[in-house]
Formats: sequence, structure tokens, C-alpha cells
Amino acid sequence: MELITDISKMQAFSLSAKGEGKRIGLVPTMGYLHEGHLSLVRAARAASDTVVVSIFVNPTQFGPGEDFDRYPSDLERDKRLAEEAGADVIFHPSAGDMYPQGFSTYVEETKLSKHLCGLSRPTHFRGVTTVVLKLFNIVLPDAAYFGQKDAQQALIIKRMVRDLNLPVRIEVLPIIREEDGLALSSRNEYLSPEQRGQATVLYGSLVQAARLIGSGERKASRIKEAVMDMIESAGEARIDYVSIVNRDTLDDAEELRGNILIALAVFIGKTRLIDNLELNLTEE
Ligand code: AMP
Repeated sequence: MELITDISKMQAFSLSAKGEGKRIGLVPTMGYLHEGHLSLVRAARAASDTVVVSIFVNPTQFGPGEDFDRYPSDLERDKRLAEEAGADVIFHPSAGDMYPQGFSTYVEETKLSKHLCGLSRPTHFRGVTTVVLKLFNIVLPDAAYFGQKDAQQALIIKRMVRDLNLPVRIEVLPIIREEDGLALSSRNEYLSPEQRGQATVLYGSLVQAARLIGSGERKASRIKEAVMDMIESAGEARIDYVSIVNRDTLDDAEELRGNILIALAVFIGKTRLIDNLELNLTEE
């Protein structure tokens, strides 16, 4: 496996691979890899000739006071895990090279990014779409792999690809969870043992919502109330949002029908965690 830090070297590598007819799969990450990331690497391995994992903690997607300065990292461990999962290249550029002095061009999705996480993180998705477009232009992937864990992000990337006619196939893979249901996240590292216990309330409350829906409840307000009650019962939990939305538009749903997404963001202490559950209620 090769580690490439230089942007022009990465682009030259990809141009040469494509010249040989190779299909490139890209897995964009911020590093501190876990099984969620590795599931994407394995999917890329199965469908590509060359697998590139990017590791870049992207400053433009963090807001003031967020955890950019203390985001966990362990490049040596990441290299080992990525290689074991089938990566050919780790692309690990510096922030200074990605955003040179005077950088002033951003790409912004203007509708979907106003919902859910966009409300409390107003510049987040502009940073995401900008860096992902840059990575596409550098790595030239045929396909790029994203996790359903960040459902809104995946939807926005798909919209950008459609709207800007980018020649990349977007694959979205299921959420990988711990045994007790907590979605894997590099940020779980921040949790104290006690907070780690409380963090199970995110998935627990989604399961509770699914149970209510299973027993016939269709009023979003009632389901939201039950979810919020359950989360608030966990010691250090503070709700950022609990939303029930149409999966394709992210508009709030009142009566549940069709493809819906129950999405939530919760602070456990200072750590902001997200989770979601997608349900299809079309067969009624
Ligand atoms: P991150 O490093 O957190 O920016 O995540 C990089 C990619 O891995 C994104 O597409 C995430 O959605 C995906 N990812 C993160 N956690 C999980 C998980 N628990 N299951 C599946 N995919 C994940």
C-alpha cells in the first residue's frame, strides 16, 4: 500500500491508473478508522481495481468551537487497518495544500443542507461538498463510498453529483453498530465510560420509534415525543434535534407514509453524536 500526501502526485497516479483502464474506488474519511469505514473500503475493494482511502480532517466543515483541534488521529493504525481491508493508496494531504492561501471557491448545495444538521451547523455541508468535489477532482474515482450513518451527507453528495453532472457513482452502505446498537464513530473515543453507557440511548430511542410505528402509530409528533422523552432520561444527554422527515426531500413529515427518515443529533456531555433510521411505509 502506498501513502500519498502530495496532491499532484495523487492526481498523476489516478490519471495513469485510468489510462490503464483501471476503475478507481474512493472512500473519503477523516481517519481514526473503525469498522464503519472499513466496511466501505471492503465494498470499494470488491468493485474496483484500485482503492483509494482519503484521510483528511477537513477544516472547512467544522464550525467555531467544534472539535477540529482535537479530532482523534492515529495514522499508523489507520494505514494497517486500511491495508488489511484492501486499500491500495492512502491519500493524506495537508490542510495547507488543500486550502492554499487565498482559497476562495466553494460549492454549496442550497436546499437539503438547510435541514437537520444544517440548522445547528450552518457552514458544515458547504465544507463537505467543497472537499468532496476537490477529492473527486484529485482522485478521479469511478465510484465513491459513503455511509448511511451520515444520511444527510450522502443525500447531499448525490444531489451535487446529479446537479453538477459529475462522472462518479455514489454508493451508500448501511450503518455499522456496536453490539449494544451504538453507531460506530471516531467521536465515540471522546466518551467517558459512563457517557459511553448513556450513548446507547440514541439507537435505543430509534428502536422505540420503530416499535411505535410497528404497532400502528403514524403521527410524527407522538413518535418524536416518545423519542425525546427517552433521550432526556439519559443523564448527560442534551438533544440537538429529533426529526422525522421525508427521506428524499428532508421536509418534516407529520403523518408518516412512504420513505421516511428518523434522524437525531444528541450531545452526550460535550460530544455531539448522530444516528438515524430509515423506514419504508409504502406497502400500506
Ligand atoms: P468520517 O471519517 O466520520 O467523516 O466518515 C467517513 C465515512 O464513513 C462517511 O461516509 C461516513 O458516513 C462513514 N461512516 C462513519 N461511521 C460509519 C458507520 N458506523 N457505519 C457506516 N459508515 C460509517
